Amino acid sequence: MTNTHMNFIWDAHAGLFPSPSMDLSVLEYWRKNNVNYLSINVGFDVMSRNETLETLAVYRRWIIHNSEHFFLAGTIADIEVAQATDRLAVSFDIEGMNALAGDINMVAVYHALGVRQMLFAYNLGNDAAGGCHDIDIGLSNFGRNILAEMNRVGIIVDASHTAYKTSMELIESSRTPVVFSHSNPASLWPHQRNITDEQIKACAARGGVIGLNGLAIFLGDNDTSDEAILRHLFRLLDLAGDNHVGLGFDYTPDLKVDLSAILAARPDYWPAGQQYDTKNIGHVGPERIPTLIKGMQNQGLSDTKIYNVLGGNFMRIAHETWAP
Ligand SMILES: [Zn+2]
Repeated sequence: MTNTHMNFIWDAHAGLFPSPSMDLSVLEYWRKNNVNYLSINVGFDVMSRNETLETLAVYRRWIIHNSEHFFLAGTIADIEVAQATDRLAVSFDIEGMNALAGDINMVAVYHALGVRQMLFAYNLGNDAAGGCHDIDIGLSNFGRNILAEMNRVGIIVDASHTAYKTSMELIESSRTPVVFSHSNPASLWPHQRNITDEQIKACAARGGVIGLNGLAIFLGDNDTSDEAILRHLFRLLDLAGDNHVGLGFDYTPDLKVDLSAILAARPDYWPAGQQYDTKNIGHVGPERIPTLIKGMQNQGLSDTKIYNVLGGNFMRIAHETWAP
């Protein structure tokens, strides 16, 4: 890790609701809060391949047309350019393999369009993998082929939102380290979107990183307190170690969309009994990073360890994955 990376904040997942009509000026929020790299979700299993491609096309054009503050980054070198020129480096992630529409060739297409991280399923099972709100199944043959293709082209393998068996199979068989980009420990709050101690330890043992999620229904009973976010951070640090924890806030700035209406419209993807019907779901975002730093300092973590959690660890995953 060189010194230029010592002040680097990596947010492994934005919680924007992907849509071609999204006003991406909300990205200023991350810049204002000193984030250097953000992975933006451009699709998830509820959307079709066409809707995902349409969203990608609009987002790419917006970022290129706003290049004084934002930089489409496909490599570590791009990220360094963005940091040196005080811009937010961005690339894309896709939450679930419905975006492929059954076609393995789409993996390389998405990579060419700037996708650098992919999840196998979004809450429900699909033709590739199992989802966390669904029956516990592993990868299909198609899923295994996708994994090999992602390893070949250099896309980060992300096990958030998947079924337990799928996540463990990914960790065991991926040639690159597997991440949970935005998942909290279920041993602190037993939500199905959270992950077990066994998943956290297996991920870390194979060199992966777990990103701390700021959504209040994954932290507790719609809990946005400093205590809640620090409790989850320290639990991850205890289980995985400071080389295997990062940030993936899953943050949605004020978007003027009615989130509860979106969630209520698809009770299959956001099932009852999982707090999705909570009124005014709260959120901890990158504006709370100073709190996290102070909390880690109070626990006696060195500056190097703190910076690894803030960005160095996910940077290492990109180093090991993006250049195949
Ligand atoms: Zn997600």
